[in-house]
Amino acid sequence: MKSAISNQKSLIIGWLYPDLMNTYGDTGNITVIKKRCLWRGINAEIKSIGLNSNEKDLLSCDLLLMGGAQDTQQEIVAKDLKRKKDALKETIEKGIPGLYICGGFQYLGNYYKTADGHKLEQLGVLDMYTENPGRKRLIGNIAVETEIFGGKKILLGFENHGGRTVLGKTIVPLGKVLKGFGSNDKDKEEGAVYKNTIGTYFHGPILPKNPFLADYLIKKALEIKYGEEISLEKLNDELAEKARKTIAKRLSIAI
Ligand code: GLN
Repeated sequence: MKSAISNQKSLIIGWLYPDLMNTYGDTGNITVIKKRCLWRGINAEIKSIGLNSNEKDLLSCDLLLMGGAQDTQQEIVAKDLKRKKDALKETIEKGIPGLYICGGFQYLGNYYKTADGHKLEQLGVLDMYTENPGRKRLIGNIAVETEIFGGKKILLGFENHGGRTVLGKTIVPLGKVLKGFGSNDKDKEEGAVYKNTIGTYFHGPILPKNPFLADYLIKKALEIKYGEEISLEKLNDELAEKARKTIAKRLSIAI
């Protein structure tokens, strides 16, 4: 008897340091990815990549998510990630999609100087560095215009960081700040994009209010895993739209 061949697609979502790198609701990003997969019949397994994980665990993931943290946790993670650095670099260079928030975003650069002046060596995949002057944190709602996801789109969210990130010439920002501070409160740029890796200061969390970004990550992950073009079924995003309209009104911007 022939066995039925299942064409159900599946993804392994690697959640980097959930116990340490996870502030201001970043967990919500995991929930959104998982739900948007399940609603479409895509199996999504969440795999925690923490202090006890190894490079093999990291290399098995189809999509990576990392949240933000306070400087103390970032020091612990920077130390531990030295063991997994090569695997993470390989993953990013291969084009495995990833979303890195705040402290996670800072980790992709060359170094992060904490508010106490400790210089943490970071991954060095993105041509950028971050310094935290230890004064005036950049906190508030934020709106950014981006063209990375096909056509003009507005990302809406909330930022809370002390670090100021400066991009090198070879790296592209995620978008242009319409309202809020952005990566460094100077150049009106926010985040960075490299291959399928996205770094941003958006907490809040970012994905519930910006479902197009969640779908971009899911689509890329499936395309890379299955080597075929994927067209995702449209979902009912009425609630997300309502939330977006409320924030846009608060920020006095048109979306
Ligand atoms: N500790 C870092 C900073 O203050 C990152 C903060 C965060 O991830 N929210 O810039």
